[in-house]
Parts: sequence; structure tokens; C-alpha cells
Amino acid sequence: MIEQSRLQRLNDEPECEGDYILYWMQQSQREAFNPALETAVACANRLGLPVLVGFGLMDSYPEANARHYTFMLEGLRDVETALSRRGIAFVVRRGSPDEVAVKLARRATLVVCDRGYLRHQKAWRRNVANNAGRRVLQVEGDVVVPVERASGKTELAARTLRPKILQQRKDFLHPLGRTPVRVKAGSLRVPESLDLSDISALLGRLPIDHGVGPVRRFKGGTEEAHERLSSFIRGALGNYAEGRREPAQEQVSFLSAYLHFGQISPVEIALAVSNAKTGDTDRAAYLEELIVRRELAMNFVEHQPDYDSYTCLPDWARNTLKMHRADRRQHIYSESQLAAGRTHDRYWNAAMCEMRVTGYLHNHMRMYWGKKILEWTPSAEEAFRTALSLNNRYLLCGRDPNSYANVAWCLGLHDRPWPERAIFGKVRSMTAAGLKRKIDIDAYMQRIAELTQAEAGEEVNSS
Ligand SMILES: Cc1cc2nc3c(=O)[nH]c(=O)nc-3n(C[C@H](O)[C@H](O)[C@H](O)COP(=O)(O)OP(=O)(O)OC[C@H]3O[C@@H](n4cnc5c(N)ncnc54)[C@H](O)[C@@H]3O)c2cc1C
Repeated sequence: MIEQSRLQRLNDEPECEGDYILYWMQQSQREAFNPALETAVACANRLGLPVLVGFGLMDSYPEANARHYTFMLEGLRDVETALSRRGIAFVVRRGSPDEVAVKLARRATLVVCDRGYLRHQKAWRRNVANNAGRRVLQVEGDVVVPVERASGKTELAARTLRPKILQQRKDFLHPLGRTPVRVKAGSLRVPESLDLSDISALLGRLPIDHGVGPVRRFKGGTEEAHERLSSFIRGALGNYAEGRREPAQEQVSFLSAYLHFGQISPVEIALAVSNAKTGDTDRAAYLEELIVRRELAMNFVEHQPDYDSYTCLPDWARNTLKMHRADRRQHIYSESQLAAGRTHDRYWNAAMCEMRVTGYLHNHMRMYWGKKILEWTPSAEEAFRTALSLNNRYLLCGRDPNSYANVAWCLGLHDRPWPERAIFGKVRSMTAAGLKRKIDIDAYMQRIAELTQAEAGEEVNSS
């Protein structure tokens, strides 16, 4: 079932004569549980046409590097296999996503697209709506509660969004089956597609940033996402509420990168967790993160045009940081020193190492990591820029609404004033002593050493 409030017409163009229904895939990079794809199939069945799914692979995707591209292409290979089983054509073409979509739209009766919340994703959809010359229908499939339904304004914090989400979420937690495809794409003449069978060869031809490479710890794609979800439900979910705080225990789902690339549906995850035979507390704790916290980030980027600038912070946070602008910083590090994990703090270095070497960082250590960047850079503005840049460069789930909201959280967004202290002012701070008290930091250090060895034999800087 696809709820009406997930659908939005993006222009007033009519349906035209055409050879196929085009699903321009951009955000929801999956065949399974994809309401945009199922909408395209339903339209195609109504008109007796096949479906063509088109994807634009651009060289200069904002802030993306070989690590992100590898993960994404692994996911697209899964999409290709799954679509071909259903008789749906799939074309990946080099070019800006919107331009590829507009070209493919020329032979389409109508265009269906998915929804993204970042600035460039919105601009692409505007361009397609203005230039496709046929109806463009957007289907919002990467949140549980559609963003406008959840709230029409910027929410102050999780506490203000939570009641709105909790009241509505059951209206959006429905399974989504596969609609049988009436007209197969077998004989459809389709434009040539990029060969996804050899990803490293394809990557080698792309003029992208090869400075940050793929990781062994995470393989992209819906199949892998499903395996991770099943193993999470069988295991770590059982103690999620408590265990998620302890980085070395890894009692988390590791699904953020799969969600970021749309390789798994948050509704599918939420249903699986809701139906799991586990205690209420653990299920509720997970759904809080997956729905309330994640969709708070969507709310933030949707309503805050400067979500990636320092000016996005609340007034109280900017004022207090300004008051403490001249406070003496005991340590100052450049972005490259930070990226290399060359600070005096071996816990922080280990966190940076997890991120740089494996493309992931546990939430507890992310908070510590971001707070310390504020303490060790010459100004809060620079801290914001540096944290965002490192976050987006190394994390597989970087460049996400969650990236912007959470880096800003380190500087006061969605939080409240705390007792005042140097540099941070009233922004919440974190200390190494606090880490030692609250988590088993030695076990974390050991785990990072193992993970590093498993990746590339790189040593953790523990000096
Ligand atoms: C400084 C900082 C930077 C961060 N950068 C990113 C980022 O670039 N991309 C990203 O997706 N998340 C980011 N987060 C949020 C969070 O740390 C990650 O989503 C989470 O650790 C991912 O691991 P997981 O999938 O195993 O999480 P789980 O604990 O298994 O949670 C399941 C899902 O819930 C959502 N979630 C969990 N914690 C949060 C949270 N605090 N806020 C919002 N959503 C949450 C995520 O989608 C996650 O995949 C950041 C947090 C901080 C403090």
C-alpha cells in the first residue's frame, strides 16, 4: 500500500504518448520496498507499457569519493539484477542525474521520481519538472512519516517532533509488496547502459576523488542491508536500549550507510523491528533513533536553507560561542592533523581511525569526536566546517541530512543550554574522563586495533 501523502505532482504537464514509464531513480536506490518503483509499475500496468528505470551517474557528486561510489555501485548492481528478474529495464548513464532524466523522459509517457531533501537534490527535481515536458510525479519513500505530514515548520528538538511522529507513524507502517509487471521490457529498445559487472574497472575510468578508497567492513547493496537487518533482529536488538551506548559491543544495526543510499527502506526496517520478538524497551529505543531522530534531521534540512553553514545554529548557541571566542585553546589542530588522527588524545585518534579506515564510527564516539573538534580549532565556525568536511569525506553515511543535523548538534542544534564552561560556553561538552567513566574505552581501543588490521594493517596512533 502506498499512502496518498507520499505522492506529489511536481508539474502541470499532461501524460504524453510514449514507449515506457520512466522511473528516474536517485535517492531510493533499491528494487525492494520502493514506493516510487511500485507507483511506476502501477502506472505502466494501467497504460499497458513497460517500465524503464534510469539512473544518472555523475563524476562530481557533491563531496563524494571512491569510497562512496564503490558502495553505491555495489548497490546499483543489486538493483540491476532484481529489476531484470521482474522484466523491468535499467539504464545507468554518465551525466548529471537531472540531465539524464530529462533525456530519458523524451520517450516516456510520464516520469516518476523519488524524493531527496538536500539542496542539490531539490534543484535536480525542479529541473526535471520544468524540462521533462510530461507529468512528473514524486513519491516520498525514504522516511516513515512524510516530511510535510510530520511537521510544517522547523522543529526545535526531538521533544517537539516526537509527539507528532508518534501520533502518525502507525498510519505509515504498511508492508509494500511487488506489483506484478504486466508488460515486460524485453523488446524495449533502451539506450546503452554502463557495465556494472566490474566496479573497480568502472571506477578507474571515473574522474572522481580516489584519495579515500573502498572499505572491507561494508559492502553496498540491498542484499547486504537485508542480511544486516536480519542479524540485528536476531541478536543486538535484544539489548539495544542499553548496549547501543557501549561502542566496543557493537550493539547497533550498522544500517546508516544503507539508509543514506536508499538501499533499504526505513519503513521495512521499522516493520521488522516492530514485529520482532524482543522487549518493548529495545524496540522503542531503536524506533526512536530510526524514526524520530532520523526524521528530525530531514525536518532540519527541509526547513533550514543554510543547513550546511554555521548560521544554521540556534541564536543562543551562536551567542554563547561568540562570548567564548577568545578563550585560550590548549591544543589547536589543522584539518590534516585531525584527519590523520595526530592529536594528543588517543581515544579521539582511535575514533578518527575507525572513521578514516572503516567508513563508520559508533554514535557515542561520534559525539565525542565532534565536541573535541570544537575544543581544538581556532573558532566555532572553523570547527563546524572541519567536522562537516571530515564527516562527509570518510563516513559512508556522510553527506546525509543526518550529517548536517548531527554536526550542528555538536554545536548546540536541537539541544539546550548547559552549565557554562570555557570555549563551549553553554554548549554541551564532553571529556575524556567522562568517556572513561561511561564506557569501556579500553575495549573500544582494542576493537579499533582489530578493525584496522582487518582493513589494511594500519596502526592506531596510541601515543
Ligand atoms: C557528530 C555526529 C555526526 C554524525 N554523522 C552522521 C552521518 O553523517 N550520517 C548518519 O546517518 N548519521 C550520522 N550521525 C548519527 C548517528 O551517529 C548514526 O546515524 C549512527 O551512529 C549510525 O549507526 P547505526 O546505523 O549502527 O545506528 P543504529 O544505532 O543502529 O540506529 C539505526 C538508525 O537510526 C538512525 N540514527 C541513529 N542514531 C541517530 C542520531 N543520533 N541522529 C539521527 N539518526 C540516528 C540512523 O539512521 C541509524 O542508521 C552522526 C552523529 C554525530 C553525533
